[in-house]
Amino acid sequence: MSEEMLKILLSELKMIRVRCLGNRDGSPCGAVIEFPVAKLKGFFSSDPKCPSCKEPFVLGIAGGVVDPFDQLARTLDAFAGIRTQAEIEFIIPNKGN
Ligand SMILES: [Zn+2]
Repeated sequence: MSEEMLKILLSELKMIRVRCLGNRDGSPCGAVIEFPVAKLKGFFSSDPKCPSCKEPFVLGIAGGVVDPFDQLARTLDAFAGIRTQAEIEFIIPNKGN
């Protein structure tokens, strides 16, 4: 069985697209925010939210909130720091197969 796959190296990711799934007024917001991966750290400052509908982009946990954008930026930095030891590749299967 052959299976076509799209393979994307972590280092090949250059842009991030955030699609807001907020639904504050009974209809989906759908705002799209695009920015370079290199600007991920601090892009939303300390209060990540949709610039259109203000939907918060944070995860509430016991004792506070988690900024997933900040966590992703830290993770990307960590993998960049071990780029001579390992690389991450995302594999997207071709749905046609
Ligand atoms: Zn929104």
